[in-house]
Amino acid sequence: MIYLDYQATTPLAPEVAAAMRPWLEEKFANPHSPSKWGSEAAAAVEVARKQLERAIGLEGGSVAFTGSATEAINWAIKGTIEKAAPQRKRIITVATEHAAVLDTCEWLEKRGAEVTQLPVGSDGLLNRDDLKTALDEQVALVAVMLVNNEIGVIQPVAEVARLAHESGALMLCDAVQGLGRVGIPAGPDLVAVSAHKIHGPKGIGALWMRKGAEPAPLIHGGGQEQGLRSGTLSPALCVGFGVAATVASERFDEDHAHIERLWDAAAGALGSRWIVNGSIDQRYRGNLNIRCEDIDAARLIGDLRDIALSLGSACASGSGRPSHVLRAIGLSDREARSSIRLGFGRYTTEAELVGAMRRIDAAADAQGQFAA
Ligand code: PLP
Repeated sequence: MIYLDYQATTPLAPEVAAAMRPWLEEKFANPHSPSKWGSEAAAAVEVARKQLERAIGLEGGSVAFTGSATEAINWAIKGTIEKAAPQRKRIITVATEHAAVLDTCEWLEKRGAEVTQLPVGSDGLLNRDDLKTALDEQVALVAVMLVNNEIGVIQPVAEVARLAHESGALMLCDAVQGLGRVGIPAGPDLVAVSAHKIHGPKGIGALWMRKGAEPAPLIHGGGQEQGLRSGTLSPALCVGFGVAATVASERFDEDHAHIERLWDAAAGALGSRWIVNGSIDQRYRGNLNIRCEDIDAARLIGDLRDIALSLGSACASGSGRPSHVLRAIGLSDREARSSIRLGFGRYTTEAELVGAMRRIDAAADAQGQFAA
């Protein structure tokens, strides 16, 4: 398999697998139990928490572990609305956010919240004036992602946070695709992240919370995570997340330079009829979302079974619906269905990427010939 689906998930780093192993095997104590073994597990969880906080790099807050970034986002949005002053029941978000944000907002809308979904331009970027116009003293939360999971574009998160704060609202940043790939800008009050996008294990996410901006709990029970998120933590998953975050920070420059080389190689191998979806400049370059007029992208993926790539996003691929992100940047259904997403990263080699690009181009060619 040639793996080009780094936005869906990333391979587990060998350093992470090695660090997790003892916590899956002999060190199985409950980190919330007072025994010597429980305390050892609790200490390992605290080391992981500090490692993740360092990698997030923001001052004045702390991290709570969750079962996924989807949970962290649900918690941030629902818990912030629950705690907000009665006159602040509005949420502002963007049409290209992940379903974890959009569907949570829709759920709250059915229960009385007011949701404003801002549009984006054809480059996928939010217009600051639209945000300024939408903000007022009724807004409790502004939710804007850092790096888009489908088209890779980078939103102006620091400025969004500044504008949100000016009107007294909090800001949530879904940094799932940004952690370890681009720096997380200062400004957000809440930041959602996920281990499996940074070569960590699946089944663990986290919410970074500025002190004082902690949302009301979503999950009730044993009072773990300072009473904010109940449930027994998995030391193996926490340790894996912490090590993945540390490795990502230590390798940041090396990974970045590798991605730049891969992007240049992929762009060079791309036939001229392919068009890049979304901004070229304001972009994380490990994401290449491209379209080719009149190809059937689902068929192309079927024709190239040993290459793992995606239709827009893993979620949109499963539903059969055209991607809401590609529609939001102004593509027709037909153009959206002619789009594929290639995601590459730390373990992708230039040779396999260029080889895959050539085969994708040839498969698109074959579709054109067949249609003619
Ligand atoms: N937000 C973004 C931008 C994502 O790409 C994803 C995963 O695809 C999520 C949120 C959800 O993350 P998790 O898989 O940890 O629930």
